[in-house]
Amino acid sequence: MSNYNVKSMKAEEFISDAEIRETLEYAEANKNNVELIDSILEKAKPQKTATGYVCAGLTHREASVLLACDIPEKVDEIFKIAEDIKLKFYGNRIVMFAPLYLSNYCVNGCVYCPYHLKNKTIARRKLTQEEVKAEVIALQDMGHKRLAIEAGEDPKNNPIEYILECINTIYSVNHKNGAIRRVNVNIAATTVENYRKLRDAGIGTYILFQETYHKESYLQLHPTGPKHDYAYHTEAMDRAMEGGIDDVGLGVLFGLELYKYEFAGLLMHAEHLEAVHGVGPHTISVPRLKKADDINPDDFDNGIDDDTFAKITACIRLAVPYTGIIISTRESQEVRSRLLNCGVSQVSGASRTSVGGYTEAERPHDTEQFDVSDQRTLDEVVRWLMENGHIPSFCTACYREGRTGDRFMSLCKSGQIVNCCHPNALMTLTEFLVDYASDETKEIGYKLIEKELSRITNPKVLEIAKDNIENIKNSNRRDFRF
Ligand code: SAM
Repeated sequence: MSNYNVKSMKAEEFISDAEIRETLEYAEANKNNVELIDSILEKAKPQKTATGYVCAGLTHREASVLLACDIPEKVDEIFKIAEDIKLKFYGNRIVMFAPLYLSNYCVNGCVYCPYHLKNKTIARRKLTQEEVKAEVIALQDMGHKRLAIEAGEDPKNNPIEYILECINTIYSVNHKNGAIRRVNVNIAATTVENYRKLRDAGIGTYILFQETYHKESYLQLHPTGPKHDYAYHTEAMDRAMEGGIDDVGLGVLFGLELYKYEFAGLLMHAEHLEAVHGVGPHTISVPRLKKADDINPDDFDNGIDDDTFAKITACIRLAVPYTGIIISTRESQEVRSRLLNCGVSQVSGASRTSVGGYTEAERPHDTEQFDVSDQRTLDEVVRWLMENGHIPSFCTACYREGRTGDRFMSLCKSGQIVNCCHPNALMTLTEFLVDYASDETKEIGYKLIEKELSRITNPKVLEIAKDNIENIKNSNRRDFRF
């Protein structure tokens, strides 16, 4: 008998191993069931309403059937629907961010991560507040407005007070026209009280990757340290939400376990958050295991190829249509190009995964968390996105306007994104072009903005957006938003 209970607060009940196994059996048994597959695809498609579009999403069982299916025409359709959902709900905007590594001190024993305690070859470093400031200035000088801060788990070296102090420093730096307007936080699972402190510090999304939903593997992959506690880690998002954080970001590290198992677990986690808190995850990240200091991805048996990776991403897009999907610079330009058409809505650019990496002229490797595949500058990434029909967006308006959690989802469903997120994207892109872009990028960008302004349907919004764009071009006024 399965112990599965989507509303349970116990990790082993909302991520029930028995339910995942039954799901995988059901998916395998139905992977050629064309009638069922067609009905699932039909359910996933955006449906027109009086004000816009809605999407029903898919259950973990339905989505797992699509993931298992390898009938070429059906797989093509999955990709088409994924792209359609992305365009209908997020438009052609791609939100930009960069990670900022604060400290690589860590007491855990994660066998895939070079920050693990026993690694004596990696240089350990923790930024001082002066160094945080210098890193933030370097990031602002590239044009970044949104960061994801990263740190190992170490109660002595990186206690919550240190993280809070860093957040405070980051928000306080304004270099030239620069500002970091949203700080997302990717730190180890912690207490409700600490989540409340993070909420009070004004963080955006709290991100925590599950790494793997397979409990037995989880225990082996995290043999020592506080992260060894599977339940404490898996129940972290519930504590974060209890602490008042509305936006949480899920993810698994693909390569550690069988991807079909992880996929079902990930969606069950999303369903659990929706069932208990009334709002699903704000984002889902899809990292793949990469080479790092003393880590060789070939030592792990479950690596996935690029085709499978794209299919997983597209199936996530169908299952949770209102959740952002994030792809980092772990992936190459080529893979990122492909995934941008499978429903991805956020990408990082010009990332450095070493502590203090942004203030060095050359990319340092000594404290790095993993090899970065896409090593282009932010200007190059922005230009490339625009050349491929996307609008790079530096917008951070939603959470600053209180549109978090279900309020953001309502905006998504209302069809008003084109009169809200779209002009915000164009205004923040203008800021980037004026303050940081090369001449070549400027030329492409201004043309794109001219063209994209015409898609705003509300005449009043259009007038204000045009006015603000002129203001950005002709003065130092910044940070306009709807
Ligand atoms: N220490 C925090 C925790 O325990 O969740 C999170 C910060 S860690 C810097 C961010 C993420 O990097 C981890 O959750 C893990 O999924 C990922 N990561 C670790 N080693 C990696 C590797 N070799 N390749 C790719 N990603 C890796």
